[in-house]
Amino acid sequence: MTHESTPDTSMPVRSRSRLIVGNWKMYKTIDQALSFLDKIIPLAKDVDCKVWLSVPFTAIKPCADKAKDSKVVIGAQNMNDAAEGAFTGEVAASMLHDAGASFVIVGHSERRKIFSETNAFINRKVKRALASKLTPLLCIGETFEEHEGQHTKEVLKKQLVECLDGISKEEFDGKVVVAYEPVWAIGTGKAATPEIVEQVHLFCRSVFTEIFGKEAAEKVLLLYGGSVTPDNANGFLLQENVDGLLIGSCSLSSESFAKILKLRHNVIF
Ligand code: PEP
Repeated sequence: MTHESTPDTSMPVRSRSRLIVGNWKMYKTIDQALSFLDKIIPLAKDVDCKVWLSVPFTAIKPCADKAKDSKVVIGAQNMNDAAEGAFTGEVAASMLHDAGASFVIVGHSERRKIFSETNAFINRKVKRALASKLTPLLCIGETFEEHEGQHTKEVLKKQLVECLDGISKEEFDGKVVVAYEPVWAIGTGKAATPEIVEQVHLFCRSVFTEIFGKEAAEKVLLLYGGSVTPDNANGFLLQENVDGLLIGSCSLSSESFAKILKLRHNVIF
């Protein structure tokens, strides 16, 4: 069965929109980024999902200029929690916004692991991003050992509670996107199963209900990330509580990213 995006008015439409995000990590020069956009911008207008690209700092301004007036939204992969200051090599949220970024990834497991980022630091970034008109795309996820030890729920709850500490319902409601990215699935070729992801997303939604109430919890977009490919993407998209995907390696090729964008997103199967 294929799910190419041909309009089908007989199918019920999802209440939450679908969002597909590419995370380029430390790949692509400005020229490479712009030629990717040459291919994706025309395609994006005909797909039934939102399209976000998280690009290297150096490519934000040229990509945002090129994507202006298109459906493609440009964002950043990291930021500092301070408004400004003597932090050599760091980038402030206001600078990202000034360069044309609309969102920023915070709490990615590579930053947590390689750069020792804590939930408290990530919490300050979420607050700073919101105050700087950037949508935080908060990543959470358990390690292989935590997964094997069946500690996934407690780890995710702690990450959510601590990373969203002090954020009001009004600040959160519709303004924060969350990606469940099991660390063991990122860049390993071993994606989680769609069934596991659906269960985890339901659990996350119950945590949001506890913190922010049912209405806000129903609205938050919950993405899955971890070794998503054009071949396995549809399995996740068939899950009711998977509102989209965060894609690393397969977002580097416009061909494989395009295949995922062209899947049918906006209907309930
Ligand atoms: C990521 O880095 O957020 C990611 C999901 O990577 P990959 O798709 O390569 O596993």
